[in-house]
Amino acid sequence: MSVLIGGAWPYANGSLHLGHLVALLPGDILARYYRLKGEKVLYVSGSDCNGTPIAIKARQEGKSVQEIADTYHQEFAESFRELGFTYDCYTRTDTNHHHETVKAIFLHLLKNDNIYKKKTDQCYCNTCEQFLPDRFVEGECPHCGKQARGDQCDHCSNILDPLELLDSTCKVCGDSPVKKETEHFYFELSAFQQELETYVHHAEINGLWRDNAIKLTKRYLDEGLLDRAVSRDLSNGVSVPVKGYEDKKIYVWIEAVSGYYSASTQWGNHLGNGISPFWEEDTISYYVHGKDNIPFHTIIWPSILMGTDKHALPTHIVSSEYLTIEQKKLSTSRNWAVWVPDMLKRYNPDSIRYFLTVNAPENRDADFSWREFIYSHNSELLGAFGNFINRTFKFIEKFYDGITPVGSVDEELRSKMTVLYDHVGHLIRDAHFKQGLEEIFDFIRLANKYFDERKPWIQIKELGSSCDDTMATCVHIIANLAQLLHPFLPFSCQKIVDMLGLPELGWVEIAVKKVRLADVKPLFERIDVARIEAEIEALNEGVIS
Ligand SMILES: [Zn+2]
Ligand SMILES: [Zn+2]
Repeated sequence: MSVLIGGAWPYANGSLHLGHLVALLPGDILARYYRLKGEKVLYVSGSDCNGTPIAIKARQEGKSVQEIADTYHQEFAESFRELGFTYDCYTRTDTNHHHETVKAIFLHLLKNDNIYKKKTDQCYCNTCEQFLPDRFVEGECPHCGKQARGDQCDHCSNILDPLELLDSTCKVCGDSPVKKETEHFYFELSAFQQELETYVHHAEINGLWRDNAIKLTKRYLDEGLLDRAVSRDLSNGVSVPVKGYEDKKIYVWIEAVSGYYSASTQWGNHLGNGISPFWEEDTISYYVHGKDNIPFHTIIWPSILMGTDKHALPTHIVSSEYLTIEQKKLSTSRNWAVWVPDMLKRYNPDSIRYFLTVNAPENRDADFSWREFIYSHNSELLGAFGNFINRTFKFIEKFYDGITPVGSVDEELRSKMTVLYDHVGHLIRDAHFKQGLEEIFDFIRLANKYFDERKPWIQIKELGSSCDDTMATCVHIIANLAQLLHPFLPFSCQKIVDMLGLPELGWVEIAVKKVRLADVKPLFERIDVARIEAEIEALNEGVIS
């Protein structure tokens, strides 16, 4: 089996925040799980370095577009590394390779008559003397009446044309833009309506997409797909590869999503082995992103693949709902956000991964609060998981000279644990990460209960092998937890691997022979609850009104 995993591409004009991370983390859980299973995995993503917001940011800060893109790309790569993300290829959209790949896709669609030229009206700002990029027109959403950007309404998720906005203004100068004629290339989305309907119907029957993806995609299809302009008058990005139109850029709809393919070919070229078997018709593919990105992955990207005769359509759509921060909507402009590089300075990456998985907005919005975060670390990670390992290993150090005793493993606990491989594996494959992690932690609570009930501190004084059996059972559980939890908490699992000297991990039950424990240390430190107040205060102080 071969599995392609595409993580959404963060936009390189600001740091990663928890809202990004909660949507992207499932990708790494999947990649790690399938590798443990022994499947072929290709996990790709990169930084989105094109488009207007970066150009504006560069102008504001007196830097070049390249400098801004470099800064954030490096910061993203570092944050992902610190969080343990195991991308096979994490690239960026301003590479020559990506540009050439996108141009080839554009020309392929043009050749197949899925892209055509059309004269059209566009928002033009007389004050700024330029056609305005979609995101630089703001106004009232014609569908829900809320304030929206020209490309999409965050409130009702409709994709918009800036001309549809009511009472529109230019974001740069605040004046009202006018309608002006220009010529653009259009992607014939309407041609894929029927094929997409069949495709989405299959996805729904097979239950491989999140509900929000099914619902939103069906809504678009019910409304009937409209052809969309795919060239823009922008300063940076991939130039339209048609003579006389080189000043225009290929719009993000085609350009950014093509990154999954360009990153794959970049990876394949680098290894000299091509992209087989990751772009075949029977490849399993997971596309992991937030709900604001759904139509790009369920309508636009499949249409591009159909239009370029590539048959590896997305099979799984893992589209998260939103994460609120302390019960309020996350806002980067108001700085109501928890920034990943900042959080990583003070907290264990596994604590972040744990919280964002058990509180993931899988089916509805979820909340991040500092109180819950710190309590979940102290009670679950340290109190349940860390404590079970620590009490077992400390006991073996004290009473067994640090050498794990041989004994018979408790059958009841063992069979419960064996079932977990099957069960949790199933849950991960179906993108129910939260439930998977919870079931492992339910089992950890059982293991702690077993320790308490067996009372090894009394058993050790008795004749016979009962204490050896208790310890052998606990060590057996710990070794297997290092595998079961590896997709979720890789750093802590690595510590267990080191302490037990385990060989290569997999997704089948392992047994531990007699080993000398190496360098026993607690997996987690308690976080002082006084930090809750301090963090909330810092969050409030940082707000820009
Ligand atoms: Zn709306
Ligand atoms: Zn203007």
